[in-house]
Amino acid sequence: MNIESLDKAFVLSSYGRNTTSFVKGKGSKLYDDTGKEYIDFASGIGVSSVGHGNEVLVDAICNQAKKLIHTSNLQVIEPQARLAERIVGLSGYDMRCFFGNSGAEANEAAIKIARKYGKVSFDNGEFDKKRYKVITLEHSFHGRTITTVKATGQDDFHSPNFSPYPDGFSHVGTIDDVYGHIDDETVAVLIELVQGEGGVQPFEREEIQKLALAMKEQGILLMVDEVQTGVYRTGEFLASNLYDIEPDVITLAKGLAGGVPIGVATTNLKDIFEPGDHGSTFGGNFLSTSAGLAVLEVLEEEKSSGALDEKVNLFAENLDRIATNYPNLFSQNVGLGLMLGLRAVDSKIQQTVMSNAFEEGLIVLKAGRNTVRFLPPLTITKEEIIEGFNRF
Ligand code: PLP
Repeated sequence: MNIESLDKAFVLSSYGRNTTSFVKGKGSKLYDDTGKEYIDFASGIGVSSVGHGNEVLVDAICNQAKKLIHTSNLQVIEPQARLAERIVGLSGYDMRCFFGNSGAEANEAAIKIARKYGKVSFDNGEFDKKRYKVITLEHSFHGRTITTVKATGQDDFHSPNFSPYPDGFSHVGTIDDVYGHIDDETVAVLIELVQGEGGVQPFEREEIQKLALAMKEQGILLMVDEVQTGVYRTGEFLASNLYDIEPDVITLAKGLAGGVPIGVATTNLKDIFEPGDHGSTFGGNFLSTSAGLAVLEVLEEEKSSGALDEKVNLFAENLDRIATNYPNLFSQNVGLGLMLGLRAVDSKIQQTVMSNAFEEGLIVLKAGRNTVRFLPPLTITKEEIIEGFNRF
């Protein structure tokens, strides 16, 4: 059987897949089984942050695999402790970390942190005083588990096929709507600073700073989902750094280990969990956290050498030019850093642009609000960017 038939026969059909089969990658280029080359402006939906076949990452994975891949979280794990130290150091916040394996799992941990905070801080013995409600935003995306899909502010994801969903989540249209929605059971607000799946839509700095201040005054947690925006994607280590706020909980995943599954919830509630409160068999094992350390080594160098900022500017110039030259196709360019998008004037143009780009050997992504989304590896070279836009 060929791969397509094997896939059809044995893999559940939860993805709308095309039939291209990639067999290798180098830098920001991918090659399919016919030998065709593609420039990767998608990095596996923001995951391959240091590109494909990066030597520092590959060496770290191979060396660690030869020594130890996994023990369990019943013992200390050296690279996990070192990665936690690194993440906290780079964030600039006084926090501790919990390690899982995905963005959804990181957000699940965040929600458990919020619920426990709601119990220990507000419940004086009567259950109805416990705070447990989490407010999220329309167009948000927080994951596919039953809880994180309920946290996701897009009704399309709340199919009755999977109901009932957990209680305690509500969605508001704008940041300003949050204030009127808070009641005496609200424990947290969970937001993305740039809504990725929702159309690469950044919020205004001032409105986020105002929200952060108001939440602090009311003892309500500000939880920032940086699964997509984190780890230099927006040009700074965290989008929270860019917005100059101090969230109570931050979640990371995607780009952190360059493709090895990882998810992290970090919080300034440093003593919120006691042994037994939460766990994950694979979370933060030797392999994923060694990969995370290698990725940070590469990306810290990209940032400090100025290379990342140059690429951010080059990408922005190209998108500005395209949006200006093709108003018949795109209404505006959106995003921050290397998390960018072009808003197509309608969904048909979005689809046509995406499939034509693929034909030309360029991988771009779809996002909400008719957006053609760009999430290139953060190590992409100038030549690859220029060639990618030629193809576009
Ligand atoms: N949160 C955000 C902002 C995301 O973009 C995603 C994935 O696209 C998730 C959470 C879920 O992450 P995962 O698919 O790793 O569970």
